[in-house]
Amino acid sequence: MIIFSAPSGAGKTTIVQHLLKVFPELEFSVSACSRPMRKGETNGVDYYFISLEEFKEKIKNNEFAEYEEVYKDNYYGTLKSEIEHIWKKGKHIIFDMDVMGGLNLRLQFGENALAIFVMPPSIEHLEQRLNSRETETPESIARRIGKAEQELKKAELFDKIILNDNLEHALDEAEKIVFDFLNKK
Ligand code: ADP
Ligand code: 5GP
Repeated sequence: MIIFSAPSGAGKTTIVQHLLKVFPELEFSVSACSRPMRKGETNGVDYYFISLEEFKEKIKNNEFAEYEEVYKDNYYGTLKSEIEHIWKKGKHIIFDMDVMGGLNLRLQFGENALAIFVMPPSIEHLEQRLNSRETETPESIARRIGKAEQELKKAELFDKIILNDNLEHALDEAEKIVFDFLNKK
């Protein structure tokens, strides 16, 4: 499994979506989440959108490999069933998740996992990118930026760090890292 983590707005979704086009042997792990669906998102494709109550029920039933309350009342988690389903198909899994979730999965899966941190050039760039994505309110941008400073401190714990300044360079580097990992065994 290949895990991409970063503060919100660093560019992990952009990189992961690119890798999915380049490597047909990868499949995206669809997480469950309790935040509202954004315009342009599809249930079961971007996330399994479930209510907060349903999410808490699944926690109780031990259905998650990992989960985090990434923002207040916004839970995100990887269902064990999702991992099993993708591996059964003989595919490698690619994840887009927050920093604590990424480190958690990396620890659980050891050598079968590669954890990559996407580093933004600066906090100011993060803010600009979140603004330009036009998916967030001023409050949710402030929450995301508030969390980013703590998340940046964890970068060194990852197997690889990709600086996403120039997107083309970042995509090339991501391709190389994923190619090497998939071909190392
Ligand atoms: P994340 O998934 O980490 O929250 P996204 O992939 O959604 O981040 O990227 C946030 C925004 O920044 C998007 O609008 C994306 O198109 C843009 N973006 C990504 N990489 C770059 C880059 N290197 N330079 C400028 N904008 C970028
Ligand atoms: P967004 O609301 O922008 O889609 O996601 C917010 C944050 O939650 C991002 O950092 C995203 O990567 C993270 N995230 C998405 N899915 C999961 C997951 O399954 N587990 C964890 N821990 N974080 C996730």
